Amino acid sequence: MNKLIFVSGGVCSSLGKGVAASSIGALLEGRGLNVRMLKCDPYINVDAGTMSPYQHGEVYVTDDGAETDLDLGNYARFTQSPLSRANSITTGQIYDAVIKKERRGDFLGRTVQVIPHITDEIKARITSIARQDEDTDVTIVEIGGTVGDIESIPFLEAARQLIVEYGKTDAISIHLTLIPEVAGAELKTKPTQHSVKAMQEMGIQPDMLICRAPQMLDDVTRRKIALFTNVALDSVFVSYDISTTIYAVPIMFFEQDVDQVILKKLGIESRHAKLAPWFLMMDRFFGIRGTVRVGIVGKYMDLHDAYKSVYEALFHAGLECGVSVQLVKIDSSKIEEALDPDVLLGSGEFQVDGILVPGGFGKRGIKGMIGAASWARIHRVPYFGICLGMQVMVVEWARGVLGWKDADSTEFKPGTTHPVISLLEEQIDVKNLGGTMRLGAQVSIIEGEGRLSDAYRKGTIEERHRHRYEFSNRYRDEMTGSGLKIAAFSPDLSLVEAVEWPDHPWGVGVQFHPEFKSKPTEAHPLFRAFIAAVKEERAGGGEGMISEG
Ligand code: GLN
Repeated sequence: MNKLIFVSGGVCSSLGKGVAASSIGALLEGRGLNVRMLKCDPYINVDAGTMSPYQHGEVYVTDDGAETDLDLGNYARFTQSPLSRANSITTGQIYDAVIKKERRGDFLGRTVQVIPHITDEIKARITSIARQDEDTDVTIVEIGGTVGDIESIPFLEAARQLIVEYGKTDAISIHLTLIPEVAGAELKTKPTQHSVKAMQEMGIQPDMLICRAPQMLDDVTRRKIALFTNVALDSVFVSYDISTTIYAVPIMFFEQDVDQVILKKLGIESRHAKLAPWFLMMDRFFGIRGTVRVGIVGKYMDLHDAYKSVYEALFHAGLECGVSVQLVKIDSSKIEEALDPDVLLGSGEFQVDGILVPGGFGKRGIKGMIGAASWARIHRVPYFGICLGMQVMVVEWARGVLGWKDADSTEFKPGTTHPVISLLEEQIDVKNLGGTMRLGAQVSIIEGEGRLSDAYRKGTIEERHRHRYEFSNRYRDEMTGSGLKIAAFSPDLSLVEAVEWPDHPWGVGVQFHPEFKSKPTEAHPLFRAFIAAVKEERAGGGEGMISEG
């Protein structure tokens, strides 16, 4: 089987196209199909690696080290689709490839044009997913942007051509739109009508519509939409606003028979739906009792998407620990300015039960992160440091326990006399910023007993990395001699991959990014262990401040 589903969006952005595409993927997997997810991004950046978290949210890293759009994180959380460099394509990559071919002379003197050369390149990338992996039953292609945007045109044109080439039973178009509510009036279908017209102008008649609306639409409204858009009534679906969780969307679609209609359109014989993990996840959601407050101390706090996978992973862990995790987003500059971090974090404005310092780059805000780590260590509050958050933990240890007041990372203070975090050797000659960090899946070996081994329950793990700096080996002896535990190494022992605080309820720093592998149906073991510790702290399990503080 080799079927294509194109998911496009209209009216405006941020309708949840990624969640809709992923939910469809989850439902088709529930029907026993092998689904592959693919994102087409119309921007000219080659990948998301060099984009500011403020502009574009987090960079999602795949096992093979691609720095991709955060929608791939949605795919990873909702589906089993393998995700690699091939599953994320951008206009930048397409043009880069076509221009390289032109320079090589591959086009034999012909004029190189958007149609057919750019569209052929897009089509080749889309169809290569199924070609590379013959188990693929369905490839779901999400087209970024909004129909009508200049940038999306080549992708929609490629979709149109593929729908014609594959034929209607092998390739379908699902279009996501918005049904707004005008104050004092009813729900408005006109933007949806116009959006479908824009698709028709591109030569694509959507086979199914998913209408984002404040509530479920009545039959009269759905009939009106069907009439004006040429879409069958049984193919007009609603993605209504929900107060529970985005992970309820697969079941919301299932209840409307979205998957049945897709199977019918694609000529796939209906099979029993196996959605037990999703129903179990919702049972856990409704079983939540109590709340914990986790302080996320970072520097991109105004944009939720900047740490999206971290926030999602905390939520997943909360589901498994039976608690709602309140995200207390703390701009680290606030801690820098505070006279007494304890008042701020402990009893005052934030009152957190745990601290998480996520990944990041650049000097701004580091002092506040070190302040938060120091507070968590001394007050025995659970602390989870991820990538930069682990490096911060090491710098804080050097300053607070070893007394090296100028200890730092060379990323922030190149001339420090105690560079406890320094540039990875392989990075010394690197000049370009794009795609040049230590990236992707790496094996680590867990050392001895501790929080890490308790969480993973195995000695060898594989997690994804994205960094240029690392724990400096020349300080290993003094660090461990003063009590800091090295909890994981690279297999050749050359790199420190995780550290733990001794005699502390839960203080773990990891050089990798576990958040990328957490799912709502199966929380990441480290996040689960962290939230379990936070829950205990909240329940009064904390043993109070250590004397040195
Ligand atoms: N800036 C740090 C480094 O490059 C941490 C990177 C990160 O947190 N992803 O090593």
